Amino acid sequence: MKAENRYNSTAINTNKARLLIVDDEQRLLSSLKELLMANNYQVDTALGGKNACLYLLKQQYDLVLLDLRMGDFSGHRVMDFMSEHEIDAATIVVSGESSFTAVSKALRRGAYDYLRKPYIPDELLATVENALQKKLLEKAHNAMQVRLKKSEELHRYIVNSSPDIVFMLDREGRFTFVNNKIESVLGYTKRALIGAHYKTIVDEKDYERASYAFKDSIYSGNENALKHSATENGGQSSKATRTIELHLKTQGDDCTPRYFEITVFPIESSTVGLKGTPNKGLKKLIGTYGTARDITERKEAEEFINFQAYHDLLTRLPNRALFKDRLNLAITHAKRNTQHLAVMFLDLDRFKVVNDTLGHAMGDRLLQSVSIRLENCLREGDTLSRFGGDEFTLLLPDISSKEDARKIARKVINVLKEPFMLGEHEVFVGVSVGIAMYQEAGSTVEQLIQNADIAMYHVKGRGKDGYQFFSDEMNVTSSNRLKTERDMRNALENNEFRVYYQPQINAATGDIIGVEALIRWHHPEKGIIYPSDFLPLAEETKLIFEISEWVLKTACYEVKQWIEAGHHDIRLAVNFSPSQVEHPRFVNLLLSQLEAYNFPPENLEIELTENVIMNDLEHMIQKLSKLSDSGIRIAIDDFGTGYSSLNYLHKLPINTLKVDQSFVHDIQNSENEACIVDAIIAMAHGLKLNIVAEGVETTRQLNYLKSLGCHELQGFFFGKARPADETIQLINRGIQSVAS
Ligand code: C2E
Ligand code: MG
Ligand code: MG
Repeated sequence: MKAENRYNSTAINTNKARLLIVDDEQRLLSSLKELLMANNYQVDTALGGKNACLYLLKQQYDLVLLDLRMGDFSGHRVMDFMSEHEIDAATIVVSGESSFTAVSKALRRGAYDYLRKPYIPDELLATVENALQKKLLEKAHNAMQVRLKKSEELHRYIVNSSPDIVFMLDREGRFTFVNNKIESVLGYTKRALIGAHYKTIVDEKDYERASYAFKDSIYSGNENALKHSATENGGQSSKATRTIELHLKTQGDDCTPRYFEITVFPIESSTVGLKGTPNKGLKKLIGTYGTARDITERKEAEEFINFQAYHDLLTRLPNRALFKDRLNLAITHAKRNTQHLAVMFLDLDRFKVVNDTLGHAMGDRLLQSVSIRLENCLREGDTLSRFGGDEFTLLLPDISSKEDARKIARKVINVLKEPFMLGEHEVFVGVSVGIAMYQEAGSTVEQLIQNADIAMYHVKGRGKDGYQFFSDEMNVTSSNRLKTERDMRNALENNEFRVYYQPQINAATGDIIGVEALIRWHHPEKGIIYPSDFLPLAEETKLIFEISEWVLKTACYEVKQWIEAGHHDIRLAVNFSPSQVEHPRFVNLLLSQLEAYNFPPENLEIELTENVIMNDLEHMIQKLSKLSDSGIRIAIDDFGTGYSSLNYLHKLPINTLKVDQSFVHDIQNSENEACIVDAIIAMAHGLKLNIVAEGVETTRQLNYLKSLGCHELQGFFFGKARPADETIQLINRGIQSVAS
């Protein structure tokens, strides 16, 4: 039986322990070996100190029983040898030497115990067993330490190589641990963060959300509340894992916050109450464990995709989809609160010219500059969107009257009137604005946009650069519009268009000096349709080009016959639409057409509106000069209704001003308006321009105009526009009684 040992509670099986007995007396070696082997130990014996050293080098022992006094190689030297060679075996000195010095020397060298010879076997066995127990425990402990260290290193490696930031907070929300990742991702040193509150790294705007995420795991100063909430759930963990997205601040040069997905787990202590007594399962909150994953790139990609879906990338304005969305909301709101709202459709007047002449890059820059100027006209809550190409839409959800919309339209027109600098080029754009008011012009998204668009085309048809409210007269419904468009195409093929001619009279002689070609549509079902009812749609659908070409060709053909019949000086006035004039090849096209029709250029007068000229003054000077050089005359139609800027007149080769009929009509009504006619005629005289007064209907107007020295007159007083055959008869007859 082995002796009972002091380490009973953690007894280790010492059987098979390997022992070395060292002595210089063979007899003692043999008797000890016998005793120990009888107790199941494995035993070697070494005769003398040197011998012992050889054994110790060859074989690992758990315990050495060592004599001290052994001739020339003492037990002390064996112990020195063992420590030099780091031989890890327990030592028990068994010696006749019992002097204090010898014993204490042995104990200082690490001997476990000292037994005096002659030993008492039981005592020796007990000591051996105790020493072995201690040694083996030590060994097991060391092995455990090594394993723990390795395991800790492994975990540290895993935590630090994590792609996420890993952290722990104490109950007050201060960092107690954070992995290396924080340094590379956010630029903080770990040292600086330990002990700091987590808010140190949270972006201010996310404080509130962060507090919410951590609220279960951070002590708010109310210990009772904390305990209470824990016991309510019968001590079970009541705290759930939370995931939240927060902005974290970065340190270093680039201080822009980054976006993180943070997952937090409250840490609760194990079930331990005071003094080790179980605390009825109450868990105590001790802090937070969390991970933070950098999702900035993902968020940016998401934001970009979102932005792209609802914005125009060039101008960064809302796109069609977002506009419709906002309009829909605004309509619902307006309906509920019986409020007004306005939709504006904006189309740049000369964007195509810029794009074609200066290139797309400049065109893009122009669109960007236009957007910026437009945005400056808006109030909070208004939505400006790029609808496509050079079209913009504007939603004014909060206006009190039509007057408000009118003001904004004027503002928009004015800001775009100012020239734009594109590199060294100064360009003028201008804009046509159609306005649809909720509910007069519609109560759905589609209706409002479409009607604003229709109103815009009426502005374009009138010579651009202006605004117009949608009205019911324009209300050609979309199916009607499609039908009219189809009908117009057919009309060209079926020859339903006619050119009518309205005479222009020499005020002094009463002679017909010219005719203005005015288009009429002989519709098979609807009868005669006047230009104001179909030209805006023709303009919109680009059919205007074909129609105009037809008008010019027909008029040239018909009037040429009159010229050839002897009316050499008869003048043919033809109206040109804005889009024709703006066409980059307008001049060449017109000249080659005249050549093809063999029509003398001196007999042609083209009528343009002021706005067309003003919209692009620089190009117009070049274009008109070229036409003028070839002999073509140039008239400004409806003078007085557009810019009425007199500045440009002397820069351009203009022959005729056509005073708008509204001024002529007013002659009989008020003295005041008549002054405008006076002023226009006086100015035209000053500039040596020919004047045609339009819309003369009464003798009073006639006489007044004649008294002002107006050269030429046109109006129902002398006859409406009529077909070619009737017109030539009139010319042949002459208009009597006018000059008298
Ligand atoms: P505009 O060039 O100012 O033509 C004069 C308009 O006034 C004509 O209307 C004519 O019939 C009308 N008018 C003439 N005398 C009187 C009068 O004493 N009293 C009144 N109340 N009206 C008078 P119309 O033919 O309906 O043409 C309207 C507009 O359509 C024209 O205005 C012109 O801008 C445009 N237009 C007509 N034909 C063509 C064309 O072939 N091509 C283009 N691009 N535009 C055209
Ligand atoms: Mg005209
Ligand atoms: Mg006119």
